[in-house]
Amino acid sequence: MGLQALRGTTDLLPDDLLRWSRVEHVARRLARLYGYQELRTPLIEDASLFLRSVGETTDIVQKEMFRFADRGGHEIVLRPEGTAAIVRAYLEHALHKTEGFVKWFYLGPMFRAERPQAGRYRQFHQYGVEAIGSSSAWVDVEVIVLCLAILRDCGVVKTTLWLSSMGCRDDQTQFAARLRLKLLPVRSKLCQTCQGRFDRNVFRVLDCKSPDCQAIVADLMASERGLRPGSFESLCESCLLHFDEVRQELRNAKIVFDDTKFFARGLDYYTRTVFEVRAEGLGAQDAVAAGGRYDHLVEDLGGPSVGAVGFAAGIERVLLAAGHQAQPLPAASRRGVYLAVTQSDLLGQGFQFLQQLRERGASGTMDYDSKSLKAQLREADKAHCRFVAILGASEMSQRAITLKDMEQGSQETIAFDAFVETLVQRTNASPSCH
Ligand code: ATP
Ligand code: MG
Repeated sequence: MGLQALRGTTDLLPDDLLRWSRVEHVARRLARLYGYQELRTPLIEDASLFLRSVGETTDIVQKEMFRFADRGGHEIVLRPEGTAAIVRAYLEHALHKTEGFVKWFYLGPMFRAERPQAGRYRQFHQYGVEAIGSSSAWVDVEVIVLCLAILRDCGVVKTTLWLSSMGCRDDQTQFAARLRLKLLPVRSKLCQTCQGRFDRNVFRVLDCKSPDCQAIVADLMASERGLRPGSFESLCESCLLHFDEVRQELRNAKIVFDDTKFFARGLDYYTRTVFEVRAEGLGAQDAVAAGGRYDHLVEDLGGPSVGAVGFAAGIERVLLAAGHQAQPLPAASRRGVYLAVTQSDLLGQGFQFLQQLRERGASGTMDYDSKSLKAQLREADKAHCRFVAILGASEMSQRAITLKDMEQGSQETIAFDAFVETLVQRTNASPSCH
């Protein structure tokens, strides 16, 4: 039996990583630009963290968590999402006392036991931000603007922003009651899972992926416009005011959004603003990023009553969307030096040059297996090296190296004495991150 990576997991080979690290670089750069600092939390957490935050009746908790008992019998979970753990960290390090308001950014793998398909994996990767400690509508606006800016700089420009408000907890209780009332006559037509959800968490019906349930929900929303979350009738005065402020400031920031769509997020902790960004070209898995406000989560996990808002984007889907939208991230430019030696007794001299270059910060590599010069040139090209430095018998006798510039297609001879300095200068003059 050949060993293979588990279904729903992927190896990222160096070529893949070129594109990946560009997304990570864009995300980091913009997050910093907006004042968000990076943090990392562990990949494993106590299971109860997600039961208490994401919600016992959600798909994530009911069927998507990788959950196991450690040897001491503790229930451990491979984290399915970032927010809950970040709030845990905020409280564990008492940042509610020392900092109050924090703006954080994260990047890393998440795990969900889903049925793998295009754009849906069991280990996938997210970048995201969380602004914890404020209820201001301005923070919602900032988070949404940042979310779209990162997507745009990653080449995902054909997007639709769905925006809604779930209201506060009181609004949600009332809304759930009205929803139950309206769904009661069609309850038997809902899928098996939703029949169960009806009592325990009726919002989940709105999030159901079954076509039958989706059709029922669409009908209901068409006939009962007031039932839509974010509508005048489903929000109390202060939640409506908050939502109006978010909408107004987004308009002022020239952000186009659709607030007529009906959607529920797949996690229980959301209150007030929720949003999803859908990208063209992704087929059924078209959500690239999603987020919203979670004003009770800090308190629910044992902290003070403070507001918070954030989003998470799936890196795999960002890359898929960028590819489909014919705006793939530009190929990395050539960089570094390939040192080619034409006979094995020159390896020592070549290696010395290479080390001097590396010590001075110029990246370089060489072949240690006495391949032909042609093969070495091929390798240099594959490795996207900017320069090839050739060291052979005639170079040794002239004490000068042949230098090919692979970008310009030019060639020259440089004295041994000047070689390292010249290359350090030239590679510094055209730096680029892989
Ligand atoms: P979906 O409706 O597609 O299942 P979700 O609502 O479960 O998404 P969130 O939990 O909000 O997604 O996660 C935010 C983003 O993470 C999604 O918009 C998507 O880009 C990405 N994502 C979520 N689950 C997966 C997965 N299994 N594989 C790849 N990316 C994912
Ligand atoms: Mg999901």
